[in-house]
Amino acid sequence: MRLQDIKTPAYVCEKSKLQSNLNLLNYVAQTSGAKVLCALKGFAFSPGMPLVSSILGGATCSGLIEAQYAKEHGFKEIHTYSPAFKDDEIDEVLSISNHVVFNSFNQWKRFATKAKNSNASIGLRVNPNVSASPTDMYNPCGRFSRLGITRENFEFDNIDGIDGLHFHALCEESAKSLEMVLKAFEEQFGKILPHMKWVNFGGGHHITKAGYDVELLIRLIKNFSKKYNVRVYIEPGEAVGWECGFLIATVLDIVDNEQKICIIDASAECHMPDTILMPYRPKIRNESQNGKFSYRFGGATCLAGDIVGAEAGDPIYKFDNPINIGDKIIFEDQIHYTIVKNTTFNGVKLPSLAMIDESGDVVVWREFGYKDYANRN
Ligand SMILES: *Cc1c(COP(=O)(O)O)cnc(C)c1O
Repeated sequence: MRLQDIKTPAYVCEKSKLQSNLNLLNYVAQTSGAKVLCALKGFAFSPGMPLVSSILGGATCSGLIEAQYAKEHGFKEIHTYSPAFKDDEIDEVLSISNHVVFNSFNQWKRFATKAKNSNASIGLRVNPNVSASPTDMYNPCGRFSRLGITRENFEFDNIDGIDGLHFHALCEESAKSLEMVLKAFEEQFGKILPHMKWVNFGGGHHITKAGYDVELLIRLIKNFSKKYNVRVYIEPGEAVGWECGFLIATVLDIVDNEQKICIIDASAECHMPDTILMPYRPKIRNESQNGKFSYRFGGATCLAGDIVGAEAGDPIYKFDNPINIGDKIIFEDQIHYTIVKNTTFNGVKLPSLAMIDESGDVVVWREFGYKDYANRN
């Protein structure tokens, strides 16, 4: 199928771009000695999973369901962390996972016996209390954070059975930010590192973004693992799916209220939630800064604020040519943190999942409809 024939809305992953993200992450793994895990929280896209699981070192999971998904997709290692595990899920989590990371000493004590009787390697998540995150919403080390144990609450003499430490302090950050966090982490927790087998540097490393200092990351990992004789893990989500696909929608109508407004069959609220929450303004293919024709784009929902780019303060998109009803609109970079977060609010259809290869051939893997709405309502 060609792209112009696809039924919209659809998330379309560009296979060659995903492949080049994975190649870069694999280069980091090979040269630094770290294992690179895919954080399913940010990127769980079934059509891409055969590629991801064959190239990366494993998957990082936020609980039982993501761990089950990682198992089904054949990841080499499964690492599971949750802010709190449940009594009726922990057995299966421990049996599926190679690593299990607890968020508090309460949780570690609650499940220590089961953990020690399992084959999983156990770690604790700490909160180094520094971060360079862009917004509070995405800062795991902000004031009152529930994520990870602070040094004040860390029971340094209660680590029998603990193999590793985990921190996650970054969001879309540079290697320089990691360097800063590592320094604080070492100052606060350095004294127990000689007792650890592994340290997980979490996610938020924007490795596949142009300009990221990959060689600094490699140096930081190498120096750290040599200094403490530990295996290092990193677990990016966004960097796996970064700029490797788009959301394609059709213009259903164009209305006028001081400004031309295209109503599309995709929705910012349902299908591009971080454009509202983060917020950010997605690029549209073929937009033109000096174009004479300007439009807003709104979803076919009843939510007034379901306008693309409005929360980021810039909902006007300009084009050199007028847009017509029936045209297809392509929102760039909509593969990570979209599919995993989308909703059936207003009964809007979930976008299909598709892959496009370099020759422009499109394969649709999954379509959604009434059943998906009914099953979750
Ligand atoms: C969200 C998250 C990740 C992935 O973060 P990205 O910003 O997508 O790279 C990794 N580890 C943990 C614990 C997370 O919460």
